[in-house]
Amino acid sequence: MDFEFTVPVLVVGGGACGCVAALAARDAGAEVLLIEADARPLGSTGMTLGLVCAAGSKAQAAAGIADSAEDFFEDIMAKSRGLANPVVARALAEQSGPAVDWLAEAHDFPLELDTGFRPAYGNRTYRMHGWPGHGGEDMIGLLHRRLGEAGVDVLLQAELAEVVADENGRVLGVVIERPGGVTERVGCDTLILACGGFAANREMLARYIPEMAAARNNGHEGSQGIGVKVGEALGAAFGDMGSYQGYAMLTDPQGISVSPQVLVEGGILVNSSGRRFTDETEDIAGMVHPVMAQDGGTVWTIYDARIESATAYTPDMKALNDLNAAKRAESPEALAALIGVPADALAASLADAYTARNRGGADSTGRVWGEELPPHGSLRALKVVGAIYHTQGGLEIDGQARVLRPDGTALPNLFAGGGAARSVSGPSSWGYLPAMGLCTAVTLGRVAGMTAAEQALHPTDR
Ligand SMILES: Cc1cc2nc3c(=O)[nH]c(=O)nc-3n(C[C@H](O)[C@H](O)[C@H](O)COP(=O)(O)OP(=O)(O)OC[C@H]3O[C@@H](n4cnc5c(N)ncnc54)[C@H](O)[C@@H]3O)c2cc1C
Repeated sequence: MDFEFTVPVLVVGGGACGCVAALAARDAGAEVLLIEADARPLGSTGMTLGLVCAAGSKAQAAAGIADSAEDFFEDIMAKSRGLANPVVARALAEQSGPAVDWLAEAHDFPLELDTGFRPAYGNRTYRMHGWPGHGGEDMIGLLHRRLGEAGVDVLLQAELAEVVADENGRVLGVVIERPGGVTERVGCDTLILACGGFAANREMLARYIPEMAAARNNGHEGSQGIGVKVGEALGAAFGDMGSYQGYAMLTDPQGISVSPQVLVEGGILVNSSGRRFTDETEDIAGMVHPVMAQDGGTVWTIYDARIESATAYTPDMKALNDLNAAKRAESPEALAALIGVPADALAASLADAYTARNRGGADSTGRVWGEELPPHGSLRALKVVGAIYHTQGGLEIDGQARVLRPDGTALPNLFAGGGAARSVSGPSSWGYLPAMGLCTAVTLGRVAGMTAAEQALHPTDR
C-alpha cells in the first residue's frame, strides 16, 4: 500500500497516554503525529478527577512524604494479590515519579501532591498528584496546549481504521477515516496505541466482563477496544481482560462522581432500608458490586458538613455543591424523612459506626475506623449508583511499553500504554489502586514515547 506521507512516530489517541507519549517522543527529538477520533479531545481522561498516582516524586519530597519505588511495587503486588505483571508493575513503580517530575519541570504542568486525599484503598502513603482545583477536562486542555507548543502535529476527527503491517508484524502505516467517509493512508516508523480500553464496547464487555455487560458505562464512548483488536490482528498477546474499575458513587441523576475522599474522610453508604452493607474503605473499585446488588441498584452516600468542607476543593464535589445536589438535614431522623429510608435504621447505622470509632476495632461491616469521623451533626445525602468506569485489561507489554507476542517476544515497532495495555490490577475488579488509570496512562505514555522515538531515530535490525 502507498502512503501519502510517513512519520517517525505515530500516536493513536489524544487522551493522557497519547498526549504524554507524543510529548516524550518530541522531547527525544522525533517528529510526531497524533491522531484523535473526536473533534474535541477528551477521552476518559477528560472525565477524571485528574489525579495521578505516583511514587518517589519531587512533589512528595517537598511535602515531606517518604516513598519509594519498592514500596509502590509492593503495594501494587499486594493489592493485585500477586497477580499483576511484575515487569510492568516495576516499570510503573520506578517511572511514575520521574514521569510526574518531568511533566512538571519540562512542560510546566502544575501537578502537586494532593494531601487532602489520605492514603487509602491500598496506597500506604500520599501518592495522589493533581492540578489543584482542576479535573481531567482541564488536564486534557493543558496537555493539548503543550502539544502545540512542542510542535507535535495533531489531527482531530481522524479515526484509526486499519493498521498495515508486513508478514513479521512490523507496522508499515495506518488507514485513517476522516469526516465524510474520506480515508487517508499514513506511513510510520513506530506506532503507539494510546486509544483507551473497551468499557464502551458492549460486545467486548459481554465476552470478557460479562458481569458488567449490562451495567451503566460512565467512561468515554471512544473506549471501543480498537487497541486490542489491532494488536490481536498483528499477533499480539493480551491479558487480564476481565479486569476493570467499577465505581460505586455515580450520583443519580446528576451523573457526577462523588469523590472517594468523602468515604475516606468518614462517609458511609446506606441502602434504601437505611442499613449499611459494605466496608466502605475496603476496595475502591470492587465496592461497585455490593452497591449494584442493593434493592433498585441505588444507595445513599451519607456525610456531614465537615466532610463537605474537607472535600469541597475537588472539582466533582464543587460541581455537586454548586448544583445543591445533596439533601441536607440536621438530624438522622430529618435526613431519613428526606431520603425516604426508615429513621431508626439510619440512626442505628450511624450509631454503629460511631460506637466502633470510639471503642476502636471494627463496626458491623468490618470497617475499622482510624482518624476519620463518622457523619454527625449537620448531615448530607447523595443518591448514587454503580457503573463501570474503565477497563484494565489489554495488550501485553514489557517494561518499555513494547507490545508482546504470546511467546514473550516484542512486535517490531508497536507500543501501547494507558487503557490500551494490560494494567497491573490483576484479573478482576478488586485489584485497582486509586488513580492507577492515569498512572499507567502518564507513565507508560512517557516510556512508550521515549522508546519509540529512540527506535525511530536510531533504527536497528529489530
Ligand atoms: C469518571 C472517571 C473518573 C476517573 N478518575 C480517574 C482519576 O482521577 N485518576 C485516575 O488515575 N484514573 C481515573 N479514571 C481512569 C482514567 O480515565 C483512565 O485510566 C485514563 O484516562 C486512560 O487514559 P488513556 O489515554 O489510555 O485513554 P483515554 O483518555 O480514554 O484516551 C483515549 C483516546 O483515544 C481516542 N480513540 C479511541 N479510538 C480511536 C481510534 N480508532 N482512532 C483515533 N482515536 C481513538 C479516544 O477518542 C480518546 O480520546 C477515571 C475514569 C472515569 C471514567
